[in-house]
Amino acid sequence: MDPAMALEEYNRKRDFGKTPEPSGRAARAKKAGAAPLAFVVQKHAARRLHYDFRLELDGVLKSWAVTKGPSLVPGEKRLAVEVEDHPIEYRDFEGTIPQGEYGGGAALVWDRGTWTPKGDPHKGLAKGHLDFELDGEKLHGAWHLVRMRRNGKRNNWLLIKGRDEAARAPGDPDILEEHPESVVSERVIEEVAQAKG
Ligand code: MN
Repeated sequence: MDPAMALEEYNRKRDFGKTPEPSGRAARAKKAGAAPLAFVVQKHAARRLHYDFRLELDGVLKSWAVTKGPSLVPGEKRLAVEVEDHPIEYRDFEGTIPQGEYGGGAALVWDRGTWTPKGDPHKGLAKGHLDFELDGEKLHGAWHLVRMRRNGKRNNWLLIKGRDEAARAPGDPDILEEHPESVVSERVIEEVAQAKG
């Protein structure tokens, strides 16, 4: 895709005179297998709290809004609504988007690290079934993103933990409650919201 066009929707939705989010051009796509690909999960207290799950691919961050956040329990499938691609620099974004702007509210970097697709991720995304490994500070091991039957304009996927040693059983501690803090600043979302500037 033309790098200038790749983030058109992202840029169109935002007024960079008002939001502290990075404006973006797509970065150069990494060659398959050449370098680790980044992933980030941002906790975002917009009108409704959600977790933004982002995977680097082709010089952008492919993005899903996970309404309840990821679960380490393989049986707990979490709705992940596909949203517009974000710039790579967004992986560092932590701060507060002003009220009235798109996505207004505080956001923190809840987890960050690298991801490894199993097989060709382009085929997986096109097919609607992406298998991958995460190597973050909180999220590890096998994960799946599976597209649900298309309904309307929205692209609804399910984010599902794979069955491995990083998985938890129902009734085990919830990672979202156990570790609510930013992996960058160790702040919780209320502290980010209260911070000035
Ligand atoms: Mn969001």
